[in-house]
Amino acid sequence: MSKPTFLSPFQGFGVLRCVILWGMNRMLSDAFDRDHLWHPYTSLLNPLPTFKVATAEGSEIILADGRRLIEGMSSWWCAIHGYSHPVLVEAATQQVRLMSHVMFGGLTHDPAIELGKTLLAITPPSLTKIFYADSGSVAVEVALKMAVQANPAKTDFLTIRSGYHGDTWNAMSVCDPVTGMHGLFGAALPRRFFVPAPQCTFHGVWDEADFQPMAEAIEAHRDTLAAVILEPIVQGAGGMRFYHPNYLKALRRACDAAGVLLIFDEIATGFGRTGKLFAWEHAGVEPDIMCIGKALTGGMMTFSAVLTSDAVAERVCSGEAKCFMHGPTFMGNPLACAVAKASTDLLLTSDWQAKVLGIERQLTDELARARTLSGVADVRVLGAIGVIELKQPIDMAKAQAFLIERGVWLRPFNRNLYTMPTYIISPEQLSRITDAMCALAAQQ
Ligand SMILES: *Cc1c(COP(=O)(O)O)cnc(C)c1O
Repeated sequence: MSKPTFLSPFQGFGVLRCVILWGMNRMLSDAFDRDHLWHPYTSLLNPLPTFKVATAEGSEIILADGRRLIEGMSSWWCAIHGYSHPVLVEAATQQVRLMSHVMFGGLTHDPAIELGKTLLAITPPSLTKIFYADSGSVAVEVALKMAVQANPAKTDFLTIRSGYHGDTWNAMSVCDPVTGMHGLFGAALPRRFFVPAPQCTFHGVWDEADFQPMAEAIEAHRDTLAAVILEPIVQGAGGMRFYHPNYLKALRRACDAAGVLLIFDEIATGFGRTGKLFAWEHAGVEPDIMCIGKALTGGMMTFSAVLTSDAVAERVCSGEAKCFMHGPTFMGNPLACAVAKASTDLLLTSDWQAKVLGIERQLTDELARARTLSGVADVRVLGAIGVIELKQPIDMAKAQAFLIERGVWLRPFNRNLYTMPTYIISPEQLSRITDAMCALAAQQ
């Protein structure tokens, strides 16, 4: 793009010049975004529209043109306390004044220690060791590396279809092989074992047969499997599916019998989203390794953690390398740790359970009417997650415009029109979201 040369003609116009320049700058910077910036899963040749945000506050996103949108996505599961929460802003500000970052190699600090104590108190009792990582995908990479370092002779992984574990190489390799990116990357991706996703729904009747394919796959590959990895109870970006807790109980038994590690990816399900603080609690089943991220910082910044047991840590550290072979530059970032600690405390001292239950009830009541619509395949709700599954894929650009006209921010994908609102959303705001979802579903 050529450099803007419009400055000189306006010199000397004072206030008017400023206003005109401000307007042109806004238009040009929107064009800059379209011409130069990648957005998630979006073409640069034929980009979907983007909407410029000026600020975000509570459960609202305020666009640069002044429109206010009710936030139905929590910025992809993260902003559980809403935006610009004073407690999180204060924690970040204080920590920035002290130190935003120091390396974690050979150094430590209170934010990492205090966050660690809090996390150990709320995660499965058998998990005692914490690795702080940069993002969800990196947490998944770390979990997979830990499993291999704990079993150097075993390098295979097994998972269920319809999963999503992130966009980095190994994380991609365990995403759903069809709706994920396997086709695009082909032989460049490591090959993993897949079994069908569980069919028994969370609220439905349990049938032992549901576990049969997993049982057989574990048995068949027990000698080479380092671990089974899956999202417990809720499969998020891979399909917004909720499955039966007994699946996890059977899985724990089968992994133990075969000497295979079990990894839970709780990056989306953590911090109250499913009605429990973490989704493993629905089944009472503890994994050997657990990934958390997304809402860990209340959506303030990227951060994640991988928790594991004494037993796994011991195996990793008594192997050939004598240590775990991973250590990102920003590991244990003090700013992220301080905000994560503040966000987790804020959650634990709030009545989050009542709030999530209230959201669950309201979503159940208000989305029910979509069930009878001809374009709707299923409606399901668990905790603060509400899904209208359509029969046909949704036209994203049209859907987004329709929703924005109704003052709500949602980002449907494929056949799923869904919401996972902030926990501080008001009943009136939530009704605006469910109204818009039902109205959009009625058009499909
Ligand atoms: C979002 C997500 C990830 C990836 O996290 P990023 O921070 O986007 O890298 C991994 N697993 C699950 C279950 C997720 O929802």
